[in-house]
Amino acid sequence: MNRVLVPLELDGSMPLLGAQAHRLDGQTMGTTWQVLWVAAGPSRSEPVRVAVQQELDLVVAQMSTWLERSELERFNRAPAGTWHTAPEAMAEVLEAALWLAEASGGAFNPAAGALVNLWGFGPSPRYTDPGFVPPTDGAVEDALRLNDWRALQWQGASRRLYQPGGLRLDFSAIAKGYVVDRVSRRLKDMGLPHSLVEVGGELRGQGLRLGGQPWWVDLESPPAATGSARLPTTRVALHGLCVATSGDYRRVYTHGGVRWPHTIDPRHGRPLANGLASVSVLHRECLWADAWSTALTVLGNEEGVALASAHGIAALFVQREPDGRLTETLTPAMKELAG
Ligand code: ADP
Ligand code: MG
Repeated sequence: MNRVLVPLELDGSMPLLGAQAHRLDGQTMGTTWQVLWVAAGPSRSEPVRVAVQQELDLVVAQMSTWLERSELERFNRAPAGTWHTAPEAMAEVLEAALWLAEASGGAFNPAAGALVNLWGFGPSPRYTDPGFVPPTDGAVEDALRLNDWRALQWQGASRRLYQPGGLRLDFSAIAKGYVVDRVSRRLKDMGLPHSLVEVGGELRGQGLRLGGQPWWVDLESPPAATGSARLPTTRVALHGLCVATSGDYRRVYTHGGVRWPHTIDPRHGRPLANGLASVSVLHRECLWADAWSTALTVLGNEEGVALASAHGIAALFVQREPDGRLTETLTPAMKELAG
């Protein structure tokens, strides 16, 4: 049995006559990107590649934790007691992230960089480094004191923020979605309203693909335990819609028989152990799909479904039961898309 999700509103785009399909891909932010688009007649892909690269470069230059000279890293390394001005794009992402930090009671936390690093998911040390061991309780306690997002004293109008000392911003759970939105808008501004943009599994579809169909995408589903049934495939029409999936089955390491996924619960300072295998979120903006999927993953099945429902967020939760079976929960907004 399969499930099909379609948006409640159509964006009014018409299929193009004599259209051709195009595709470009590359690497960014430690992952891959891909852009598919449909244009009338033969169109040169070079201007598209240049535009995409500009958007990727802008977000990386401002928000990468892997680039010592990014705006974000300059802030992260700045002395205690200093004020900084965030460039526009960084300010936009920070505002969204701070809103979600408040809304989720700190389950999503853009100031959790010290914890992320400590657990080996930042630039260094990496959990893949030979001899890497998970941190001691004392080190976790110390890092927990550094992840208070309110200590940033964010002043939106002047885009000013304060480095209280040792606070590390990490936008890895929101920046991919943000850049997907930017690339998609940029294509539209270039006269290309029919596109599917993907960065690291976060997707945004606009308009229609070749043949007048919407961009159909199957949600990533976590692997089921051997012997247990697979979940139904969920197929979404990404027509003016984005999808992001957070999962516990990629970028995960095992130490002393314990699995440590790369999403941290910043409220306790430890990687998640709530049995959620994945959360997929559908939203008109990929920034929100991306950030919500991480927030809901941290909150877990009960709290997460309640918060997503209260905010009208369309989400699909996949829980790993103690016996290895996978079970699904859909929020009301998600059920509505399923018709
Ligand atoms: P996923 O696809 O599983 O959502 P992302 O790459 O979008 O993964 O986000 C995970 C990254 O976000 C981590 O590697 C870390 O840098 C950062 N992160 C981890 N936990 C949190 C959290 N609770 N709030 C905000 N960012 C987090
Ligand atoms: Mg994410």
